[in-house]
Amino acid sequence: MKTWIPLLTSLFAMGACCQTPSGSPDIVAHRGYWKCEGAAQNSISSLSNAAAEKVWGSEFDVWLTADDTLVVNHDAKFNGILLKDARYADFKDIPLDNGERMSTVDEYLAKGLEYPDMEMVFEIKTYKDGMDSLYEARVVPACIAAVKKYGLEKRTTFIAFSLTVCEQVAKLMPENTVQYLNGDLSPKEVHERGINGIDYHYSRFQAHPEWVQEAHDLGMSVNCWTVNAPADIKEMIALGVDQITTNEPTLVKKIIRKSVR
Ligand code: MG
Repeated sequence: MKTWIPLLTSLFAMGACCQTPSGSPDIVAHRGYWKCEGAAQNSISSLSNAAAEKVWGSEFDVWLTADDTLVVNHDAKFNGILLKDARYADFKDIPLDNGERMSTVDEYLAKGLEYPDMEMVFEIKTYKDGMDSLYEARVVPACIAAVKKYGLEKRTTFIAFSLTVCEQVAKLMPENTVQYLNGDLSPKEVHERGINGIDYHYSRFQAHPEWVQEAHDLGMSVNCWTVNAPADIKEMIALGVDQITTNEPTLVKKIIRKSVR
């Protein structure tokens, strides 16, 4: 039994579900871990690869179709079809690059239930002009209902470029982390809107390194995207961000391990 004590101690030091040493950033696989044989961005296989890589979280992008189906895809269009104006049946049989079908959020979250140690980093996508308030009014409750349906409230982080969407989610899910993506506001300005996190392009933190501490002083979480180059990864670790979102989770893991030796 004694031999287990140091092992258990070191496991606690690693954090219960965080797969990086204590005090280091957690790793979020951007659109899943898709730089693997047979994977595609935002596919179920990428979600599974992220879990196999034992990252802290796996990020994915969500759109709502005209017939109220939530689907997982990065772009607003798929094969030239604008998802918000399409019915799910219009594109459901068109394969992704790896031959998989595009997942519905139902399918994606159901798969996520198989990986209870991994955070689901749920990006609610909206249209860049920000003018489609009717769409925003539909997509937010649909996304929250999906997370609740699968009982994933306790391990879902919501992210969005839309300030309105972040404000709405923060009000409806006050226990959850909500991170604003757009990078145009200081942590204080985001906090004043009732939002408890930021997830900015790393260049925003290079321009405003003080924002990390400012956010932490306000009790906010700090994530950054999409950090793939060793120099940028090291810079974000040194700044003390809470999460690093990356297409290179294995590389980030190696750099974090070296940085704490
Ligand atoms: Mg995304």
